[in-house]
Amino acid sequence: ALTAGIVGLPNVGKSTLFNAITQAGAESANYPFCTIDPNVGIVEVPDHRLQKLTELVKPKKTIPTAFEFTDIAGIVKGASKGEGLGNKFLSHIREVDAICHVVRCFEDENITHVSGKVDPISDIETINLELILADLETVEKRIGRVQKMAKQKDKEAMYEYEILEKLKNAFESDQPARAVSFTEEQMKLVKQFHLLTIKPILYVANVSEDEVADASANEYVAKVREYAASEGAEVIVVCARIESEIAELEGEEKAMFLEELGIEQSGLDQLVRAAYDLLGLATYFTAGEQEVRAWTFTQGMKAPECAGIIHTDFERGFIRAETVSYEDLLAAKTMGAAREAGKVRLEGKEYIVKDGDVMHFRFNV
Ligand code: GDP
Repeated sequence: ALTAGIVGLPNVGKSTLFNAITQAGAESANYPFCTIDPNVGIVEVPDHRLQKLTELVKPKKTIPTAFEFTDIAGIVKGASKGEGLGNKFLSHIREVDAICHVVRCFEDENITHVSGKVDPISDIETINLELILADLETVEKRIGRVQKMAKQKDKEAMYEYEILEKLKNAFESDQPARAVSFTEEQMKLVKQFHLLTIKPILYVANVSEDEVADASANEYVAKVREYAASEGAEVIVVCARIESEIAELEGEEKAMFLEELGIEQSGLDQLVRAAYDLLGLATYFTAGEQEVRAWTFTQGMKAPECAGIIHTDFERGFIRAETVSYEDLLAAKTMGAAREAGKVRLEGKEYIVKDGDVMHFRFNV
């Protein structure tokens, strides 16, 4: 499964946030294919459609889909002996698919800030620079390898050399790889370099308790928003301390607490949604009397591959998928009515599954 890594300087609230994630933790019995690792937190992906489908179908149980966060700080702490902390930190970031960068936007005299004062932009730049330097090293090594061949007019080497030079120039002016524009064709090659700064990123602004409902007066958050906008990234505002309190609650209790706080959705729920979208993930549903369930797939996947997420047999023996969109099913109220209205399609092997599709797979065993 795809995972988002939580990174940030010391004392910004990463552990507090990660504790909230594990506390909110999804019932792991439902997700046997998920990683069992103390540094991985599995959370349910909030989706109002699942609730609606449950009301329609009235199944015995309802199972949301899940998402994994990796606590990079935790891994680094555990592995700090031997090799430099810096290298470990970078190699762990290499393993995640997206980056959630936590920055400190709260004042608290009792909590030391590593650089002496609260300055989220300087925090962001410190870590980003570290990642850019690592990528510069990667690219320079590769340039060393292809340069000679490129000089001898080897077509492939020349093609790669041009891309590498473009990246090198960006890194030398402190730009991440994700800010460089490439054609789809070039991108295929760029992916093979396994760069850190090509990974999608979002920023998590950790604010104080009294700013959960409205952080518009917080200048640090404003600065983070401005910085993020310049690179097309999203900002999620959370109060990590309060998130750990929210994470202990469920259902009605949670809703009441959120109302008291004056917020619609917990910061953690917003973060899960944002990370999910950032990775290009989407949800399809299965809806039967036994269970209504949400499943995560990657946008662009075809029907057999999506069936394979449930079970490899479903993919191997795939025949076709009875498919109705969530909206059509909601409007028709029952599967039978949707069928009568001609809203249920029979889709084959080439069908590209859409977010919100309700699917019933037919397969040979
Ligand atoms: P990490 O080093 O980034 O993992 O930071 P921690 O999660 O350990 O937090 C560092 C300190 O900041 C701890 O004392 C936390 O209780 C405190 N802290 C974290 N989030 C908040 C917050 O939202 N508000 C306040 N006031 N303190 C926080």
